Amino acid sequence: MKEFDYIILGGGCAGLSLAYELDINKKLEDKTLAIVETRDEYKRDKTWSFWKVNDHNFDDCVIKSWSNFSINSNFESHEVVNNEYPYQTIDSGLFYKKVLNQLKKNKNIQFFKNTDLISLNNSFIFNSIMPKENYQTNLWQHFKGIEIETPKDIFDEEIFNLMDFNCDQRDNVHFFYTLPFAKNKALIETTWLSKMDGKSLNDYDIQLEKYIKQTLKIKNYKINYQEQGAIPLFYPLNKTEKNKINIGSAGGMTRLSTGYTFLNIQDHSKYITHNIEKIQNTKTYHIGKKYEFLDNIFLNVLKNNPDKMPKIFLNMFKGSPKTVIKFLSNKSNIFEDLGIILKMPKWTFIKNIF
Ligand SMILES: Cc1cc2nc3c(=O)[nH]c(=O)nc-3n(C[C@H](O)[C@H](O)[C@H](O)COP(=O)(O)OP(=O)(O)OC[C@H]3O[C@@H](n4cnc5c(N)ncnc54)[C@H](O)[C@@H]3O)c2cc1C
Repeated sequence: MKEFDYIILGGGCAGLSLAYELDINKKLEDKTLAIVETRDEYKRDKTWSFWKVNDHNFDDCVIKSWSNFSINSNFESHEVVNNEYPYQTIDSGLFYKKVLNQLKKNKNIQFFKNTDLISLNNSFIFNSIMPKENYQTNLWQHFKGIEIETPKDIFDEEIFNLMDFNCDQRDNVHFFYTLPFAKNKALIETTWLSKMDGKSLNDYDIQLEKYIKQTLKIKNYKINYQEQGAIPLFYPLNKTEKNKINIGSAGGMTRLSTGYTFLNIQDHSKYITHNIEKIQNTKTYHIGKKYEFLDNIFLNVLKNNPDKMPKIFLNMFKGSPKTVIKFLSNKSNIFEDLGIILKMPKWTFIKNIF
């Protein structure tokens, strides 16, 4: 059995971000790291977007960034002018390539398909593998996206559409999300906020085709790439152990009200790297207890009043864009939090606190 100082379980976004951060900060010159990952090959499988509220290592993996965005419902359309924080989209294929090129230069890092050949007893473990429990009755953000290319220039590439609620809701919360990468190329996603205990919402291909043909009025297009996924809008119950830290979605890095995880993973990787020499005695990293509290109320409202959500989201974005973006990216101060809370329908939220 091989012994390592550190073991990362799961070489996806969180595992690779952490390994990269440790490596570029020279924390693996006299320490060894095993990365355990089941996949056979790395290729683009996700498109990570977020408001860039702080620096990260992957600006060179950005497909495109935008300032302004829109939100629509069947009763209103709202454009948000945002000059403060760019909204960036990262190509996971470029991310994997960049990280793996860096890691392969370090002889102290080894990849494994499983843990059969390595000893887990004396290592410090960073785990990004989700526990196996059945979480179907919890809330998820589940979606399918396709990147389409059209023969003619159709899209306004200067503005992206964050949420278009003008679609079939089926007693849940449903919106489309459009990222125009070029005048003739865009990623279009059908997104649901719901439980995952049935298949009644999973006709993603039909939903996408209908939206592209009937709402966007695009008749002629080809599909270049597709992605499908489900982001947990709850914290998975991972056991706390002395020599183990959970990272990524498994480590509570997903913002429950939005599903945004990528930038939190980067912040968590920096925090771990900064404290790596005394990691056993370092305080657990949290996105923020106040966001956990507020997001849980928000999700209760969402569960009990799905029909109210388009209006709630629209109202939220009618205030200062800087405040909303900071709030959704967990960087807001108490005054900004209050600004957001006051925009919410008070009785609906008070009823859902308990
Ligand atoms: C399609 C998609 C799009 C997303 N888009 C966004 C976005 O726009 N913005 C945002 O902020 N967040 C987004 N997310 C959420 C989040 O950022 C990603 O899920 C991110 O990849 C989470 O990183 P992770 O390391 O926790 O999980 P993953 O990246 O999934 O990594 C987990 C790794 O563990 C491996 N693994 C699983 N089981 C085992 C095992 N038993 N042994 C060894 N290895 C194992 C998997 O192969 C995988 O590589 C998206 C998620 C998905 C699925």
